[in-house]
Amino acid sequence: MELLKEKIIKEGTALSESVLKVDSFLNHQIDPVLMQEVGREFARKFSNKNITKILTIESSGIAPSVMAGLELGVPVIFARKRKSLTLTTDLLTSSVYSFTKQESNEISISNKYINEQDTVLIIDDFLAKGEAALGLIDLVKQANAQIAGIGIVIEKAFQEGGQKLRTQGYHVESLARIEALEEGKITFINEKEEETAI
Ligand code: 5GP
Repeated sequence: MELLKEKIIKEGTALSESVLKVDSFLNHQIDPVLMQEVGREFARKFSNKNITKILTIESSGIAPSVMAGLELGVPVIFARKRKSLTLTTDLLTSSVYSFTKQESNEISISNKYINEQDTVLIIDDFLAKGEAALGLIDLVKQANAQIAGIGIVIEKAFQEGGQKLRTQGYHVESLARIEALEEGKITFINEKEEETAI
């Protein structure tokens, strides 16, 4: 998605060779116009999958998911990372190791909102080692629902998450795929070149 790549080049900062900071439009301040386009793109990519729910994880997955939910006309559920005062019973839980925070979080959703009749699109802001996505997949499986695919705003393709999920047979669509991060330099995988190479 060209608009997203341009924004990453313009406003993203490589904090190291493995961490990208995009606080100005996705992880702290949110650009609603860009998020609307992101939502439209996810809706286009998964339009034929009969999606009934979107599942994401708080907090940075919420904005792109709500925009995709608006386009697809389906509800959005976000897994919580912290215990909630109101969400206390009938929980489905999974454990997720966070690559950026270097800690494990118990993530949970109520079993009220996803069931065996659902076809779920999983969305997240970043894909790195695939831990968050695998935790969300685990929640969908516990609910006995179908997984339509995984929509990622920014995939760091040099980390193993994308390959892990694709080799497990999941349909993963990433709107920007980063090949490498260096101080002051962000390079993307050229999808067109990749397609011609195949
Ligand atoms: P994974 O679980 O795939 O290892 O990492 C994905 C999760 O970690 C995402 O939910 C995202 O919040 C966070 N994350 C991983 N890498 C980055 C990064 O380079 N920048 C930012 N801002 N978040 C990241």
